[in-house]
Amino acid sequence: MTTEIFLLPAILDRRLRVSPDGPVMIKNNYFTDNSDIQSHFNDMIPWTEIVGSYEGGFRDARTYRENKDEKLASAPGSVEEALDYYRTILESAGDLAGNEISPYVAALDREGLRIEKGLVKFPQKMIELVKTVRDAGLQPYGFSRKYGGLGLPWVVKGILSEIFYRVDGSMAIAIGCVNLAEILEHIASEEMKDEWLPRLTAGEFVCAMGLTEPDFGSDLPNIRTRAEKKSDGSWTLNGTKRFITHGCGFGEIPALILTLARSGSPGSGARGLSFFLVNSSDVQIAGIEHKLGLHCSPTCEIVLENSPGVLVGQEGLGLIRYTMGMLNGARLGIAFQSVGLASEAFYEAQKYASERIQFGRPISGIGAVKKMLRRMESEIAAMRCLIMEGCRAMDLYSWRPEHLKAAGGNEKDIKNDTIIRYWEKLANILTPLCKYYCAEMCLKITSDALQIHGGSGYTEDYDIARLYRDARIVTIYDGTSQIQVGAAIGGIVSGMSPTGNLREYIDCEIDKLSEKSSASELFSVFDRTVAAYRDMSSEKKEEFAEEAVIAAARMISTLLLFRSGDRIRASDREARKSLAQTYFLDSLGICEGNLVRMSRLSAP
Ligand SMILES: Cc1cc2nc3c(=O)[nH]c(=O)nc-3n(C[C@H](O)[C@H](O)[C@H](O)COP(=O)(O)OP(=O)(O)OC[C@H]3O[C@@H](n4cnc5c(N)ncnc54)[C@H](O)[C@@H]3O)c2cc1C
Repeated sequence: MTTEIFLLPAILDRRLRVSPDGPVMIKNNYFTDNSDIQSHFNDMIPWTEIVGSYEGGFRDARTYRENKDEKLASAPGSVEEALDYYRTILESAGDLAGNEISPYVAALDREGLRIEKGLVKFPQKMIELVKTVRDAGLQPYGFSRKYGGLGLPWVVKGILSEIFYRVDGSMAIAIGCVNLAEILEHIASEEMKDEWLPRLTAGEFVCAMGLTEPDFGSDLPNIRTRAEKKSDGSWTLNGTKRFITHGCGFGEIPALILTLARSGSPGSGARGLSFFLVNSSDVQIAGIEHKLGLHCSPTCEIVLENSPGVLVGQEGLGLIRYTMGMLNGARLGIAFQSVGLASEAFYEAQKYASERIQFGRPISGIGAVKKMLRRMESEIAAMRCLIMEGCRAMDLYSWRPEHLKAAGGNEKDIKNDTIIRYWEKLANILTPLCKYYCAEMCLKITSDALQIHGGSGYTEDYDIARLYRDARIVTIYDGTSQIQVGAAIGGIVSGMSPTGNLREYIDCEIDKLSEKSSASELFSVFDRTVAAYRDMSSEKKEEFAEEAVIAAARMISTLLLFRSGDRIRASDREARKSLAQTYFLDSLGICEGNLVRMSRLSAP
């Protein structure tokens, strides 16, 4: 006889559901089990356009045929080959995340990090799991093939990072942080790229972003870390950086810290800042933060004391060009983190709601719960449409300069290229919009998912508590939501002028829809919202920029959701259009309400 029979049935029931090691995540292939990602991959992404833009006439495949450079061996020679390649990568990432990593993340979250004699100690299992991903060749997904990377366009990198973020934020960051150094491909000299990029893709370094200081977070133009040039032309850095993720490296692997420091005079503002490479072995780790969530992600305070730094690119362009360049990608990264977290929270809520019986039936059948689940599903679908479009915009301009150069073009040709100009401008609006909107909605969705779990959601018996804690950061780091609003609003207002690019883009996309009336109705509200905003005093503008940004995000997401309904295969069309309609009605209500408030409050 075991002791189990003496337990009350309710306790026994709970013990059957909750493993002694803590909650058990949904185990599955996180690429193939996500029907929305599958629809994007199989039906909705315009692959000919994306692959064409990334591969530029399949240059790498041609070069491989000529010189058999092994680094280019995986280069696709056609759109079909590219899709097979992407699918293989995503299936393998989905399997690793959903089947290999998912069973361990709850225990890792409980174990957390320790600091011993100035060194950050990671759980051994975490180090093993990240190594498994590295050994599978999936880690350097942000780099191009010639430097040892996977050679993926933004849309594929995005799905890949979403898959890892769905399983766990700390793991996804440990796996993906090296890819921050992708920016070096665009801004570093050829010698620097040849020296550093192969070492990064080979796993000799991880990467960290050293921007924030104790007194300067959002206010980056005023940071104080000093960079001094010595007589032999080398640089040393002095100062303190706070909140630097993986500033300590990862286990035995050091970090290359992309560090922003003042090379100009004190008070020189944004134009006095330059960008440096600093080896984490040359800085001191003063401590790590004890945080609400992301318990296995080291958030380090680092002290630079005559630490050697290598100047990247030109002096004075550190913030205004290079950090901003890095942030477009980083913003999309957090948007994917948000969608990954929100998706898992939704799946967990859906599972719980189908199993939890109240009033004699599963709570999934109760109207109020059903409504929450339905809204979560439509919001996630909208978020994913929005970020895939953000990635598309990035894909349509960021690879083109290199292809133009390879075809004999010069700087002037690149500057005047109409395709680059159009999509870059749009990407500069879409990326802060994606970050803002997906992060904010992620908070709402993880909160609703916890609500559906009732009291159990507030315990550590289910994964939702970890997801909820981890989600809280997404509106804060890599630029807070308020900073994203500031980054997006100028482009929205100028883009909505009579000849603006945003107006042209929306007009053109609505025109292609099979059913235009709903999107047109919302467009009219959005147009009036921007007009109301434009007419406000500068004081009121600061207050109401967010409402205009919400309207832009909801407008674009609505039309993309309707567009997805036209592109999806026939068997899924009706369900998709109904989801789009749910989202449209929610958006119309929110935007109309905001417009009324804006009009009344701004009236003289
Ligand atoms: C877990 C974690 C990891 C991080 N990782 C990194 C990293 O790897 N590298 C790195 O460099 N930094 C990192 N950060 C720092 C992060 O990017 C900053 O915390 C963030 O940019 C906000 O800065 P702050 O904390 O100083 O807040 P503050 O700038 O002090 O902001 C406080 C509040 O005021 C608002 N606010 C400030 N200025 C404005 C404005 N002009 N308009 C409107 N509202 C405003 C903000 O939106 C916020 O609500 C990390 C932070 C955390 C918590």
